[in-house]
Amino acid sequence: MATMTKKGTITPSSSKWLACECGDEVEVSTTTARVTCPNCVNKMAAPPEVPAYIERERSGPTLNKDGTPRAKRGEGKKYVPSGFPRGWHKKAEYVHVDGSKWCRGKKVG
Ligand SMILES: [Zn+2]
Repeated sequence: MATMTKKGTITPSSSKWLACECGDEVEVSTTTARVTCPNCVNKMAAPPEVPAYIERERSGPTLNKDGTPRAKRGEGKKYVPSGFPRGWHKKAEYVHVDGSKWCRGKKVG
């Protein structure tokens, strides 16, 4: 087994260069007989599985029942200023700046 330092490098005194099957040379310990380079390891390993939630994002936005794209978390809760102060619809009598009168959210004049 190759002796490795903490940084993952082999101490120069006990290392040699060994060729992989593809021809790439890799620095290994003097006790190593055969080596597979990182490129070949990548080719051998299966591609990573794509998690379901990423697959869903790639296939497009999530749709509502009526076919419209569903708002992402937080997007649908934006405060839209109505021109009325907060809690105006709970007041028994509210007179708006334009002169209209309201009673508990219903226009009375
Ligand atoms: Zn190789």
